[in-house]
Amino acid sequence: MPSYGPEVLGPPPRDPEQKYWDPEIQTMEPEKMRALQNERLGTLLRKIFDNPVPLFKDKLVAAGIGGPEDVKTVDDLQHVPLTVKQDLRDSEAADPPFGQYRFTDPRAAVRIGTSTGTTGNPTISLWTRRDIWIEYESSARTWWRYGYRPGMIATHAHPAYLYGGGPMLSGSYEYFGMLNIWVPPPDTDEAAEQGLRFWTRVKPDIPFMGFSTGRFFEVAAKLGIDPKDAGLEFKGMPGFGMGKGMPLMTAGAECYAYVGGACGQLPGAHINEDWGVVQAVDPATGEEVADGEWGDLVVTTLDRDNGLLRYDLEEACAILREPCPCGETSIRGLWGGRFKDLIAVQGTRFQANEVESALRGVPDVTEPTLEWQMVRPVDETRPVTVRVERGSGAPADDAEVARKCAAALRDRLGIDTVIEVLDRETIPRSGYKAARVVDE
Ligand SMILES: [Zn+2]
Repeated sequence: MPSYGPEVLGPPPRDPEQKYWDPEIQTMEPEKMRALQNERLGTLLRKIFDNPVPLFKDKLVAAGIGGPEDVKTVDDLQHVPLTVKQDLRDSEAADPPFGQYRFTDPRAAVRIGTSTGTTGNPTISLWTRRDIWIEYESSARTWWRYGYRPGMIATHAHPAYLYGGGPMLSGSYEYFGMLNIWVPPPDTDEAAEQGLRFWTRVKPDIPFMGFSTGRFFEVAAKLGIDPKDAGLEFKGMPGFGMGKGMPLMTAGAECYAYVGGACGQLPGAHINEDWGVVQAVDPATGEEVADGEWGDLVVTTLDRDNGLLRYDLEEACAILREPCPCGETSIRGLWGGRFKDLIAVQGTRFQANEVESALRGVPDVTEPTLEWQMVRPVDETRPVTVRVERGSGAPADDAEVARKCAAALRDRLGIDTVIEVLDRETIPRSGYKAARVVDE
């Protein structure tokens, strides 16, 4: 590897036919991987006590862990207290602006960002060059699994500026060697049009826009742009059917954005175990739950300049360990959503995205895009109010549309609903994640 020059901005080239981005790591024997994790965990613990990193050190000492030698292996992690987002927030508030949980001087970092902060004050994330490199390498394993290759044209519409997600995705595509078209998030029709018009000039091979994809289809229909002319013919990740879980697993920008990616052969995402210990934990006991059962997603990052120890994302995760026919040897993780987003009503619990999946089965409301909203239930015994915009081909009779939606939701979730059918563009649009559950 060159130590200076343009080559240092990217990885050494690979044979496009090779099966894995990083064969040595991705097919490493589990015992050898565990030894690597233990070694890197030791380094993390020594830094916590030696630097020191007060937030983590104080927690360890309070739990009777007097030094790095008390946490020798991944198995010892069960005795290490969990840290949640509120701990980071409190630390930043008590000792502004960065708190007492950083491993490096903030000026040793080159990038700064904040979490989206949908609930509470956003926390500050810092990345050194090494931390960014680990994210880029981690994402490269996933892009390679999807069949992406250097030389392709990728596009996205991630939010930018203080939110760290956009620069991370753009940087990861460029590092991988793809031509990266970063268009503005479609917050307004004008912003969406900018992206659409550009894609009609330079067509992306990979038009994956995540949450905002529907918005572009909607605006394209208004402007009379054929989505095909803008390269928007995305039919899902190659090989990823429904029910196999999310193709990409994330532990948030503040912890580990590209913690794992799915191969599509077995459910779940292959975890980058060399750079993180990912556990499904019962928060009451600190112990891992049985394989395949839901626990809290808890991540300990490894080998970074700025790490997190036993970070509990307060999201649902399950771990799967059966060997995967794809040949990768890592454990796999399933992501089950944020516990905070779980809706409990009429004796059942579900995620908002399950409402969306159910409504997708009703063609009267899905064209050109499905737009819906539900009111967070206050009385658990009452029917849930769900609003949905009339689709372009819907019958004139709203009652019929409502009846179909209610039946789909009863079928899928076993709940009673009151459906309000609305005109198009009644529900507020968002360029990133639309608010689907509202408090009234
Ligand atoms: Zn696999």
